[in-house]
Amino acid sequence: MRTPAAPDRGRFGVLVVEDDDTIGRHLETGLRSNGYAPTWSRTGAGALTEASQASYDVLLLDLGLPDMDGLDVARTLRAHFPDLLIIILTARTDDIDVIAGLDAGADDYLVKAFSLTVLLARLRAHLRRHTVAASAREPVRLGDLVVDVMARRCELKGAEVPLRAKEFDLIAVLAERAGEVVSRETLMAEVWDENWFGPTKTLDVTMAGLRRSLTEAAQAGGGPVRLPQITTLRGHGYRLERQPDPAD
Ligand code: CA
Repeated sequence: MRTPAAPDRGRFGVLVVEDDDTIGRHLETGLRSNGYAPTWSRTGAGALTEASQASYDVLLLDLGLPDMDGLDVARTLRAHFPDLLIIILTARTDDIDVIAGLDAGADDYLVKAFSLTVLLARLRAHLRRHTVAASAREPVRLGDLVVDVMARRCELKGAEVPLRAKEFDLIAVLAERAGEVVSRETLMAEVWDENWFGPTKTLDVTMAGLRRSLTEAAQAGGGPVRLPQITTLRGHGYRLERQPDPAD
């Protein structure tokens, strides 16, 4: 489904199907300013026409549309485009609607009102899984630390650092954006695939485990090790530093 001349996230085509003007405009603006290429349709019929005329990577689909049931839009597009990532946007919170949506071929759903941050995080997580084989991403090297997402290996000075699954996912997301602050909300959404509604200990516990594993690996190696720090920015999130502290 990817546009051939568009290797980066910046060009993922997103078809937004939403009849609410405020939400539709918010999504269109937010997606565009974050590097996606959105097309906004207010009706189900309009979305089906759009999808038949251009290639899309992602469908963001409101279920309550003026002209047809969103579930029928999902079913139709799923039948034609098996690789399309379909995320349902719903105000309906009943489990039965969520199950119906997933049965209709959706990959994921977000209950309104979701935050743009959460939507963007979920998109990144899905698209990473979708495109991981195609993009063959290079390992990230920071000092003596190497994070190889393709091989799911974390190495320090050539020795594998034993990490639990979520600890690896955490360092992978931080390494992918080394030098940038990654918010707690983003980490929760990308690593745990969950909406984040408040303080949670899961992230703190996993972060503590990750730091402990890295420190132990650095000490076990013997000799100087250039290990980049994970800086905590209270109230904001975490940042994996690009420049490791000088070896000591
Ligand atoms: Ca609606």
